[in-house]
Amino acid sequence: MNLTVRGLDARYGSTRVLHDVSCEVPDGTMVAMIGANGAGKTTLLKCIAGLHRPAKGEITLGGSPVTGLAAHHVARRGVCLVPAGRQLFGDLTVVENLQVGLGRRGGAERLDRAYALFPVLRDFADRQSGLLSGGQQQMLAIARALVREPEVLLLDEPSLGIAPLLVTEILGVLRQLARDGVTILLAEQNAAAALAIADHGVVMENGTITRTDTAAALLADEDVSRHYLGTSADPVSVGHARALPAGLRQPL
Ligand code: ATP
Repeated sequence: MNLTVRGLDARYGSTRVLHDVSCEVPDGTMVAMIGANGAGKTTLLKCIAGLHRPAKGEITLGGSPVTGLAAHHVARRGVCLVPAGRQLFGDLTVVENLQVGLGRRGGAERLDRAYALFPVLRDFADRQSGLLSGGQQQMLAIARALVREPEVLLLDEPSLGIAPLLVTEILGVLRQLARDGVTILLAEQNAAAALAIADHGVVMENGTITRTDTAAALLADEDVSRHYLGTSADPVSVGHARALPAGLRQPL
């Protein structure tokens, strides 16, 4: 389902943190949103998910406006946010967390599909989720969203604090989901890894989108490379056809 954002402003109190933000995630594609700490990525995801009311602008899903709708209404339209920090119920087991995602939908089939994407979750189904590694918890947070069968998946920093091998696995699953038709907006500070699997990218700086291009063009861009790919970037190749620039490729 096509997601569009047009002319969005957002504030916390009197501080404006998003300025005239416009971007589009075409149906069944993945857009990587990259930018420094505090650039406004989380705020944009929250506005889309109905968790923060924008001051101005429009958000549409499949062409219909959802601007300012409450989060549960946006969720009913097929949007799921996997928040930064994962926000799992640490005392509950893996399967219990997934059941929270399922709600009253029931569905062993949905659980099976999630387990097929992240087999480790089946192995640890009865383990307290708080005892999982950071990467496994991130898998669970994504799986908890997936059992709702979202049409639009919003992810906030899924690679944060996770071992590189698990980042590879997680981003590979996201790539697969986009191939299967899920529309994905991925906010990431690990810009190289995110751009390596995305179709398009947007750069957010100080609450404004300053660049929009194909992910390949952004990866090859000198400015982007200098500002976003040089330091924290830990490029991960996850079998996407697009090549990383020479020197950024990392063996799996
Ligand atoms: P990070 O990766 O650090 O979360 P981000 O790009 O996601 O960064 P946001 O979290 O959207 O950025 O923050 C954008 C700006 O809004 C920052 O200056 C931040 O300090 C401010 N901000 C975020 N949440 C609040 C809040 N609840 N109240 C006041 N200011 C906030």
